[in-house]
Amino acid sequence: MFSKEQISLYDQSLGRVTLVGAGPGDPELITVRGQRALREAEVVIYDDLANPELLKLCPTARAIYVGKRAGRHCVPQEETTALLVAEAQAGHHVVRLKGGDPLMFGRGGEEAHALAAAGIPCEIVPGVTAAIAAGAAAGVPLTHRDHASAVVFVTGHECAKAETRVDWAALAKTGATLCIYMGARRLPQIAAALTAGGLRESTPVAVVTNASLPTQEVRVATLGSAGELAPTILGKPALIIVGEVVRLAEVLTQASALAVPASGVVELANVA
Ligand code: SAH
Repeated sequence: MFSKEQISLYDQSLGRVTLVGAGPGDPELITVRGQRALREAEVVIYDDLANPELLKLCPTARAIYVGKRAGRHCVPQEETTALLVAEAQAGHHVVRLKGGDPLMFGRGGEEAHALAAAGIPCEIVPGVTAAIAAGAAAGVPLTHRDHASAVVFVTGHECAKAETRVDWAALAKTGATLCIYMGARRLPQIAAALTAGGLRESTPVAVVTNASLPTQEVRVATLGSAGELAPTILGKPALIIVGEVVRLAEVLTQASALAVPASGVVELANVA
């Protein structure tokens, strides 16, 4: 939250923007602060990965959809950013609701930057990012200390700029668990690049689609066979986890079947 002093630094006639992480899909996975921001919002700008159920928290707010179903393929990022600035300059409290965490591969950083350049107060409310939700969904402890001491969040989307292009061979040598966003389409090429970089073909891979939603699916393969999964996951949000920690999934999935939802207690002690 902003202090009075911070707000007085800005033009009082301006509105403000709160960039809110909606979490991975399940509406219960938004933070308490995110819920409060929605309840206080006058305008909500949202897209596909944010669950529209969350709009029930702000029934009187004007909701503006800027996702892929908005007539065209997608509202261009510059238009969304300009809309945020314009709504705030009109004096509104705007919530920009973004799937997962607003700064994780979501271009929230660009939006926050544009707001700062326009002198508009902007608060960022973090969210549960897809990699964390996918680990929980698949029962994969991303940094189990016996198997991985690092975790990498990486995009599988081929970037045009050479400087920011992913060096898969370098990642293959880190021993880190790899959490790959936006990698479904290029899964065969990514798996090939990782094995060429030194990871064994037997390295386990989990692919979690629609993590945290009732439509969630978990598929487990190896780097050698992962390419075959690509056609079954296209068109769904998919998070790919690569690393030895994926072998632990079975144990934790059994444990979550023993979970007592009312109290949230998981009887790990009952698991062999
Ligand atoms: N800001 C978001 C990521 C946006 S990039 C976050 O923090 O999670 C979009 C990519 O995120 C998708 O292509 C997919 O790889 C991943 N993703 C988002 N939601 C997901 C979900 N519920 N299940 C699996 N992957 C998801």
